[in-house]
Order: sequence, then structure tokens, then C-alpha cells
Amino acid sequence: MRGLMQSSSINLVSLLEHASRWHGNQEVVSNTVEGGMHRQTYRETWQRTAQLGNALAELGVKKGDRIGTMAWNTYRHLESWFAIMGRGAVAHTLNPRLFPEQLIYIVNHAEDQIILVDLTFVPLIQALADKLPTLKHVIVMTGPEHMPDDLPDNWHCYESLLEGRAQSCEWEQVDGDDASSLCYTSGTTGNPKGVLYSHISNVLHAYGATSKDAMNVGSADRVMMVVPMFHANSWGLAFGLPMVGARMVMPGPHMDGASMAAMLNDERCNFAAAVPTVWSMLLDHLRSTGGSLPDLKEVVIGGSAAPRSMIEAFDKEFDVAVLHAWGMTEMSPLGTVNRVSGSMPLPAGPDEAYDLSCKQGRVPFGVDMEIVDDDHNTLPHDGQTFGRLLVRGPWIVERYYGETESALDENGWFDTGDIATIDEYGFMNITDRAKDVIKSGGEWISSADLENAAIAHPDVALAACIGATHPKWDERPVLLVQMAEGKNLDAGSILTLLAEQFARWQLPDAILPVDSIPLTATGKIDKKPLRAEYQNYLLDNPS
Ligand code: ADP
Repeated sequence: MRGLMQSSSINLVSLLEHASRWHGNQEVVSNTVEGGMHRQTYRETWQRTAQLGNALAELGVKKGDRIGTMAWNTYRHLESWFAIMGRGAVAHTLNPRLFPEQLIYIVNHAEDQIILVDLTFVPLIQALADKLPTLKHVIVMTGPEHMPDDLPDNWHCYESLLEGRAQSCEWEQVDGDDASSLCYTSGTTGNPKGVLYSHISNVLHAYGATSKDAMNVGSADRVMMVVPMFHANSWGLAFGLPMVGARMVMPGPHMDGASMAAMLNDERCNFAAAVPTVWSMLLDHLRSTGGSLPDLKEVVIGGSAAPRSMIEAFDKEFDVAVLHAWGMTEMSPLGTVNRVSGSMPLPAGPDEAYDLSCKQGRVPFGVDMEIVDDDHNTLPHDGQTFGRLLVRGPWIVERYYGETESALDENGWFDTGDIATIDEYGFMNITDRAKDVIKSGGEWISSADLENAAIAHPDVALAACIGATHPKWDERPVLLVQMAEGKNLDAGSILTLLAEQFARWQLPDAILPVDSIPLTATGKIDKKPLRAEYQNYLLDNPS
């Protein structure tokens, strides 16, 4: 028997319609690419989205077409997402930090017909355009006064396209399971893989991400959405904030410490979300200028582990609580959030509280997780035993775009590639990426733990730990460090710091300075080139 409730399908564009009807005066604030702050309401955003929807129809956009966007977080990028999805097309976010060859690969793999591009990236798309055979139009996200000269006829000005069009649009009918958006993982191995989200998966994810035990945001909040829409969907905030009617504050390309501090304080943001590297720039800026964050109450940190030193700095120096979150592109991306549960004993003091905050947290409804050994045996949730972290749920990938084979195991689990523990209260803690764990004499050493401990040293800017080949122990840790500006390596003092937290056999065999630690397009440490260079270091330099 089927239920007898209204089955009108859920279209993501209805999130923005809701924001326009019921939070119409709420502001969407952007620090623009052209320079200066731009403010408009959700009502105006909805009207402009309809204008763009009408323009896209005229350019021939049909249901299911893939439309690329390469843009910072601004009101125009937000409008583009909703207009594309409202037309029943698929918004394909392009990460400008990818190598040109990877961009060519993903645009051609997705067969993007149109790309909406910020002024910043016009030269990049111009350089690639003749290698993109499916591309019919490019829309430059600016006004006529800023349009570059001498662009081909199929390059359009965003504001000119909107000019004079109807502010309402007949949106396409979609089924909840229809594709809404596409995001490629950065592909540290092999080609990037496309994760194709649906309208319903994004709506469910937005409910989950904004819920109390997750980000806990509502219409009274002023939220700075720093995490880019081009990487893992701005952690669902581009959908979640209109859903709850929160004030949206977006940094555009301005993510340096000074701009961030100014925006957070001028717009009186009480909540913000970004990756650790962005927060480090903000903390450095505040310390060097003696600045403060009077309105900010809570920040979400995810994408890579939030270092304990950062969690403590936010709390002790700026009275801001850190909410540690974990996820991945394949999970829309939210997997876990670190909020204490009423069923557990409260931390005994600040040290225990910081220890707890370093864990990646608990799952909301919509995500299930498990840890298993290499033979797929389920492991105990004792906070000690670690194994491969598996996940499943309605906002987690089933199959990559263009693939015929499922990405799941025979029991329907997706293997995250992370190694983790889960404790009796459901707190998950990532100990490493499976491919980064160091296997020394049959015991596992967490490269992530060593890196996190090393960057707490005041002279260390970044650290990466690899398992170097060792004649007796198979692998031993070698720690590569990028020193802070003007500092020289003092391996002894780093070792002393590590020795406070690690057993002797877990300490690195060598600590070596590097000019800069390579990062991937999504800002994560890229160990491939470091392995290529230092894999045989201990064989060539026996102690
Ligand atoms: P990519 O495209 O680089 O894979 P993702 O954002 O999808 O980008 O990367 C997901 C991975 O990032 C996770 O599997 C995990 O290894 C790492 N990660 C994300 N958040 C955290 C966190 N809070 N702590 C530790 N690792 C994290």
C-alpha cells in the first residue's frame, strides 16, 4: 500500500523559493570579484535566478544538460546553481585549482555545454576552450562595464543576459531522483571521478547538515560560507542556508586573513565554515594585528583534521568554539560532526574537552558507518581498535558518473579510504588515510597523528609524514617539515615535543626540512611527490 501524502516531487529550486517567500528580506552579502561589497535579499536573489533561468532556456538548456560553473562564492554563483538545477540541468562545479589537463578531462567527461565563469578565470577558460568540443556558450559572471574586450560571440555577459527578463520562470518538472549537480573528486590517483547528486539527496543532506547535532544553523544566524561551492558543495551550506533562511555572507575571492577578519566583524557573523588552511591565515592575521572576533561564536573546521593547537587557539585566544566535521565529496559531503551527546559523561576539564574536539564526531540520521579489518570483519567500537571506515546512506554515492560498476561492496557499504576508531558514544576518530598509514614491523603508526603533533611546534608551518622503506622494519616514519617564515629547523626540539605524546618506536627516524609541502587542488597535503623523493631516504642514509 502506498502512502496518501502529497507526492509533488522535490526540486532544489524550491529551497530558494521558500527563502524568498518566507525570509524575503534576509540578506545575501558578497565580497565581489570586481571589488566592494554587494548586498541583496533572498527575494531579489530569487527574481534574478528566474531571470537567469529564462536566459538559459533561450540559450537552449534542456533537462539533463551539464552546465559548468567556475566561480568563487558570490550571489551570482548562488543564482547560477539554482537556475541550472531549476531548469532540470546539472550544475557541474569546476575547481579552478585543478591542473589544466584535469579540467579538460572533467569538462569533456561531463560534456558541459555552457560554462559560467568569474572574471578571475576568464583567461583559464579562454586557454582551454578549443580543447572543449561540447562547449557552446560561456557566460562571464559580471556586468557590461567589466566585460573583457575581444571575446568571441558565444561569450555572454551575465548581467546583460538578465537585463529586462521576466522575474518569474516556469521551472522544469523534476523527479526527486533526477540529477541536480556533479562534482569531481580531485583524483590523487588516476583520473578524477564524478559524483552525481540528485535533488532529493541534496535536500536530505541540507536537512541533515543544518540540524541541531550537526551545524545547528537557523534564521537567526549570520553565516560566513567560506568553504567554496566548487569544492564539495560548500558543505551543503548553499542549500542549507536558504532552507533555514539564515543570512548568507560570502567572501568571493577574498580569503586572506585581513579580508576574512573584516567581513566576519563588519557583518557580525556568529558562525563560519572553512578548511584549516584558511583559519590559519585568519589566526595569524589576528595575532599580528591584535584583532578580535567579538561576534563569532562557532566555526566548523573540516576537509582535513582540525589540529588541536587550532582548536585551543580559537577557544583560548578568541572565545570561539570549534566544531570539527568530517566528510568527503562522495558523501555530499557531510559524514560526522563533533557535538557532545547527552548520553555521555561530560569532559572532566579543558584538556579532555580539547581531546574530544579533535575527534571527527558522530553521524546524523542519514549516515551509517562501520569499521572493519582487511577481511571485512566488524571491529569493536571501543575507541581503540582502528580499521577501514565504511559508510552508507541516501546522500552517499552509489556509482561514479559514467561508470557501470557500483562503488559499493556486496553489503552496500562505501569504503571511505580512511582508517578510524569509533568509541562507545559513537565518536569517530580518523587515524589516517589507508594509503598513508606507516607499517613498521607489523605495527601501524599514524602519519596524521605525527603531523598534527608536529605543527603544534611554533616554528613549523606544515608537516607531512611518509613511510620510508627500511631494511629491518619495512617502513619507518620520515617527517618532512616546512618551517615558518624565517625559522630554521631544530630537529631536536621537534623530537622533544613529539616524545611527549608518542612511544619511542613511533617517533620519526628522520626530520627533514623542505621548502614547501606540496598541496592538492583541494588544499590537502600531496604526499605523492614527497614519496617519490624520500621513499629511499633511510636506505641511502642508514643511521
Ligand atoms: P578530495 O577530492 O581531495 O578527495 P574530499 O573533500 O572529498 O576531497 O576529501 C575527503 C577526505 O578528506 C576524507 O576521506 C578524509 O581523508 C579527509 N578529511 C575530511 N575531513 C577531515 C577531518 N575532519 N579530519 C581528517 N580528515 C578529513
